[in-house]
Amino acid sequence: MLPQGGLTRGTLGVKDGRIAVIAGPDAQLAGTETLDCGGLWVLPGVIDPHVHFGFGSPETDFETESRNAALGGTTTVLSFHRSRDIRESFEAARDRAESQSCIDFGFHFGITSNLHVETLDDISHRFGVSSYKLYMMYKGAAGLSKGFTDIDDGLLYSALQETAKIPGAVLGVHCENVEVIPVLRDPLRAAGRDDLKAWNEQSPDFLEAENVHRVCYFASKTRTPVNIVHLSSREALDEVRRHRLRRDGPPIYVESCPHYLFLNDETPAGPYAKVNPPVRGQDDVEAMWEGVLDGAITTLGSDHVPRKRETKDKDIWAASNGFPGTGMILPIMLHEGYHRRGVPLDKIVALTSSNAARIYNLPAKGSIEIGKDADLVIVDPDLERTVDPATLESFADYSPYEGMTLKGWPVRTLVRGRTVALDSRIVDAARTEPGGRFLRRL
Ligand SMILES: [Zn+2]
Repeated sequence: MLPQGGLTRGTLGVKDGRIAVIAGPDAQLAGTETLDCGGLWVLPGVIDPHVHFGFGSPETDFETESRNAALGGTTTVLSFHRSRDIRESFEAARDRAESQSCIDFGFHFGITSNLHVETLDDISHRFGVSSYKLYMMYKGAAGLSKGFTDIDDGLLYSALQETAKIPGAVLGVHCENVEVIPVLRDPLRAAGRDDLKAWNEQSPDFLEAENVHRVCYFASKTRTPVNIVHLSSREALDEVRRHRLRRDGPPIYVESCPHYLFLNDETPAGPYAKVNPPVRGQDDVEAMWEGVLDGAITTLGSDHVPRKRETKDKDIWAASNGFPGTGMILPIMLHEGYHRRGVPLDKIVALTSSNAARIYNLPAKGSIEIGKDADLVIVDPDLERTVDPATLESFADYSPYEGMTLKGWPVRTLVRGRTVALDSRIVDAARTEPGGRFLRRL
């Protein structure tokens, strides 16, 4: 799959971890290893810009979850680093990740306090991080329980001001109006509701869209590139479209997630599919596919959260938020997007790899071109498999996609030319020597 040529028969030569030759199908290249990919597709490895490694087992998540990622064709992740003072915590987190990860990785910083804004320039340049996430979801009382004391519109505005000063930086924002949620939630709970639809009804589409408006409007005043992360609804996407009409406005990127394209609020997965923002109704699912096709959606992230099943086996109100998904991005997009809905493969590659490389300053990633890292996923487009969490290597011992049979799976994943996953197994060498690298982006 070449950036200009689409699906093309050919031969790739990889040297020192980079793509060195792109030649015709009959080229004879001398190499230490030759892979015959006849009948298969070679795609750029998936870049998942939204994973929460550390929410399962902080000590070992980069080991287990990088394996889960690699099995699904994900070769780069951007995870979140959040602490009281990032100046003091970052290096240890980065070094631990580097000792464990079998794929390449970077971080976003979580902005939850004025200290983070005051130190943003320093920590960004020092640690090579140029993207951040601010959580409107944890304003006020909702944030206090997590120790986030400073989240309000002032923090949003000052974070936008600081981000605008850092070259190539982008501020991601979690959009849900958390002040209104209790007004809607409390009667649903009091009525005894205990279903996924109720989780959608307590934080409906317009509470997302309202925050999207505020973020885009402030961003236009500060001229800051922003990214509406894990966008879930038609209302919110239309709000982005409206703001994009503004002349000379800053870039507004949209990330959606495979679950907003593939699950609705009636899925039998129930609390396993509980997430913020909630999975929506089928009309919103259709709206996300429209956004895929017309380019309104920029990237897909999994919002991967690898907690155990026992945190989910509760009523809808008590079940934990989020679920694992980084290894499912490509299978879902191939099955539901390519096979079922006829979405062109180049759109899938743009959403799952190239666009993230572009907006997150990853110039060596995201496409099959000479000089780029040989992060490749070899796909059998016709392979059908049933999702079984026991084979997915995640700390999480469940999947909201459990039992579903999907068509189109990776059969081999290479990171910088090195095979890390083969035929649904992590290779031994990637277990003993993981080899993933931290990606500086500034
Ligand atoms: Zn979020």
